[in-house]
Amino acid sequence: MNGLRLVTLDLDNTLWDVEKTIRAAEQELVQWLAQHARPAHEIYTSSDILDLRNQTLERHPDIRHDLSRLRIEILFSVMRAAQYPVDEARKLADAAFEVFFAGRNRVAFFPHALEMLRALSARYPIYALTNGNADAKRTGISPYLQGAISSADVGASKPDPRMFQAALDRAGIEAQHCVHIGDHIDDDINGANAVGMHSIWVNLNNTQTVDEGSEPGHQVHHLSEVMGAIAAIEATLANNPK
Ligand SMILES: [Mg+2]
Repeated sequence: MNGLRLVTLDLDNTLWDVEKTIRAAEQELVQWLAQHARPAHEIYTSSDILDLRNQTLERHPDIRHDLSRLRIEILFSVMRAAQYPVDEARKLADAAFEVFFAGRNRVAFFPHALEMLRALSARYPIYALTNGNADAKRTGISPYLQGAISSADVGASKPDPRMFQAALDRAGIEAQHCVHIGDHIDDDINGANAVGMHSIWVNLNNTQTVDEGSEPGHQVHHLSEVMGAIAAIEATLANNPK
């Protein structure tokens, strides 16, 4: 039968404001460093942090897609630069990351995000598909999800087709029965379209423009419009039996 059988869903800047969320998490991390690792705080808040970040990436190119591991290794480099011995540096880096990660998962949902998840999950299985490191369970959205796939799991980031294929394989659904919902025109919309999925572009503040060659199937400016876009895709599929 024709019709949608799967939804894949971007998280950052689709369900919540990621810049706002990360800014708050960074502030908590910096405060924690000031209290628990003063010499590291000085380095972390100086321009040296950029070099440490680049050096960490050079040393561990394999964790480029794993933002949590990357951040832990950067924090470890900061602790070492602050002269903590290896064991203590490792412990402090883990503890500092935990402070950041708690904040990173205290997300600032966009209006109607949870209502949309409720409505979508009543009709379709949903897989989160993210290049970021949000933890679905800790953000509170896991009851609506069938699964979550991150770039850290796949070893590649959207728009790489391997990300979309991983969700299709996991769900056992073909691309033409899947719709991807996301805010990023290249990573989400062009990426999904390239593997033959339907797509809904979440363009909330209407500031993004479409490059030539991009064809967002459907566009919404508020998450309350997503179910309407889904209905439009279903209607098209019903009228075009293959
Ligand atoms: Mg996004």
